[in-house]
Amino acid sequence: MTHPYPKLFEPLDLGFVTLRNRIVMGSMHTGLEDRFWNYPKLAAYFAERAKGGTGLIITGGISVNRRGWLLPAGGTMNMRADVNNHRKVTDAVHEHGGRILMQAIHAGRYGYHPFSESASAIKARINPFSPREMSVARIQEVVGDFARACSLAKEAGYDGVEVMGSEGYLLNQFLCSRVNKRTDAYGGDIHARMRFPLEVVNAIRHAVGKEFIVMYRLSLLDLVEGGNTREEILLTAKALQDAGISILNTGIGWHEANIPTIVTSVPRAAFRSTTAMVKKVLSIPVCASNRINTPEIAEDILSSGDADLISMARPLLADADFANKAAAGRAAEINTCIACNQACLDHTFKAKRASCLVNPRACHETELVYTPTTSPKKIAVVGAGVAGLSAATVAAERGHKVTLFEAAADIGGQFDMAARVPGKEEFTETLRYFRNLLQKTGVELQLNHRVTKGELDGKFDEVIIATGVLPRMPKIPGVEHPKVMTYAELLRGKAAGQRVAVIGAGGIGIDVCEFLLAHSSPQTVEEWTHEWGVDLYSSVPGGLREPDKVTPKREVWMLQRKPGKMGVGPGKTTGWVHRATLNRQGVRMLDAVEYLRIDDAGLHIRQAGQEQLLPVDHVILCAGQESVLDIVQVDSNGKPTDRRYHLIGGAQLATELDAKRAIRQGAELAARL
Ligand code: NAP
Ligand code: SF4
Repeated sequence: MTHPYPKLFEPLDLGFVTLRNRIVMGSMHTGLEDRFWNYPKLAAYFAERAKGGTGLIITGGISVNRRGWLLPAGGTMNMRADVNNHRKVTDAVHEHGGRILMQAIHAGRYGYHPFSESASAIKARINPFSPREMSVARIQEVVGDFARACSLAKEAGYDGVEVMGSEGYLLNQFLCSRVNKRTDAYGGDIHARMRFPLEVVNAIRHAVGKEFIVMYRLSLLDLVEGGNTREEILLTAKALQDAGISILNTGIGWHEANIPTIVTSVPRAAFRSTTAMVKKVLSIPVCASNRINTPEIAEDILSSGDADLISMARPLLADADFANKAAAGRAAEINTCIACNQACLDHTFKAKRASCLVNPRACHETELVYTPTTSPKKIAVVGAGVAGLSAATVAAERGHKVTLFEAAADIGGQFDMAARVPGKEEFTETLRYFRNLLQKTGVELQLNHRVTKGELDGKFDEVIIATGVLPRMPKIPGVEHPKVMTYAELLRGKAAGQRVAVIGAGGIGIDVCEFLLAHSSPQTVEEWTHEWGVDLYSSVPGGLREPDKVTPKREVWMLQRKPGKMGVGPGKTTGWVHRATLNRQGVRMLDAVEYLRIDDAGLHIRQAGQEQLLPVDHVILCAGQESVLDIVQVDSNGKPTDRRYHLIGGAQLATELDAKRAIRQGAELAARL
């Protein structure tokens, strides 16, 4: 049989060690690495990925000294005591035939503490703390700290290290004139600016010897003003190769960049040509990264010669068995990362343990365990939105006999609607995954079946109510006017006119504005780079060029009753992308609004004491949701009166409903039954 992904599964011989395939689990901060008592959990998390066939794993950032912390008391490798903790991780990975690198990082001015330091004393926009400028003596100390940390990593059993030189961290800060304003030997032209990173690599190589992987993550596209040009990037890459790195990894964009680099609306493999540009001038292996989430795309990048390895961090959070499933020709069973950031990066930036929206077991491998049941039960699940799908498949996987009832003609519920939003096309992958899993776990799916209480009572041992939500109908005079529709009606195909008012500015209000204004969906890489003003080859510093002018497709107003900033609901790492898109599209955002009435003329509102008419053709209601609880009786606390009934997802709590909670609740309940 020919292999479905021959390049992806070709071993890579580095001379002293062979990687079993080209799949790299890129570095991702989980929060587990920051506390020594969590290292058994961290070991279990990585062990599952190694067991799942991943070729090379890179840990989250481990600081080389305390001033280099990302957060106070973050994961550090600078004492012998640290070695014992890390040994748990390396042993666990090696037990399953994997290889693992420790990412050595110094956060520089991104350190969220008052002791941060950088090339120059320039504060980052995204951090309240100002760094102090490093003296030459301090630079030498930090070079030594990198070398010591990497040598301790070798003692801890790591197969190598990744030096974090991108995303705007310390080494990147020295490399770019944006932060490096020094006038000594470490500042000035690119040769002076790369002096510190090169000294770090030389010292590491000297400390660890030849037979140890030293990967360097270089920013190949800074996406900030004062970033490097193509010539500077290529010169640095070649100098790093000469200094003895084993692999060059792709870094894209500083954390403070105003351009998204990994959210779901960024086209898949958008930056492959940036990696290819650098690969052309190097002889060492080069790793591609960012928005690569399927084996097909990974194979395509490798077979076209754009890269030698593929880094996927979030896709391996979403599915620990990604590699084994792809190798066995079972790619359709992969739980694909939808690039939502909701449970991974959004958690990390709130100093909360990371997980995954589509895989709640991620980083909870020892806590959320789907143990086979010893007493199989008959379980009914009502509603095939993601809460119901999650509960049904976990229960069936554990050995219960599960029937899943769905009133609609297909599975998906609110998630299916979200998948129709431009830039959220990835959401269909989750439904494809569940479709396969329903079959594989033997769930009996009954579509077009609005189940009654009579069909459930006495016939099942447990009943899981995942009936979800319906859009809330606000009490506005004229809400029944034909020009009013709910977001659900719009997303399911009802046409909207040229001038539209969107009532509600939560996640769904924003999604609806994007739906109304999108010119194409999904965007091509070319359309996306033009919209955001990105030059993938950095022929201008930082790869920033003027974005194309946008001609809005419609005139849109988005409104809320609360006074204050609009569109702040969605996650920390994604909300700003939506707000920037809406601003560019000319959406008029009105807060502190009172809705007076809707009539043939449009939507009448009062704002700051002034009445005004928005002369719109349609009004779209995005005013939150209400739980659907038609087949279950609940007590005054909202708990089912019959103890065999369980409420999950939107049916349990409509406010702050989100897919992350729905999937996790479904899985946690089914794991206990
Ligand atoms: P939401 O975030 O609660 O927003 C509801 C909006 O409706 C608010 O702007 C609210 O503003 C308004 N509203 C509430 N009651 C109203 C009433 N009676 N009359 C008029 N306006 C009213 O809910 P959602 O937008 O429906 O989203 C549901 C869930 O899905 C949320 O948890 C959201 O975070 C999640 N989601 C997330 C994303 C994402 O990208 N991460 C995308 C979509 C949805 P005022 O009360 O100020 O008027
Ligand atoms: Fe991917 Fe979302 Fe899971 Fe993060 S939370 S790994 S972005 S699916």
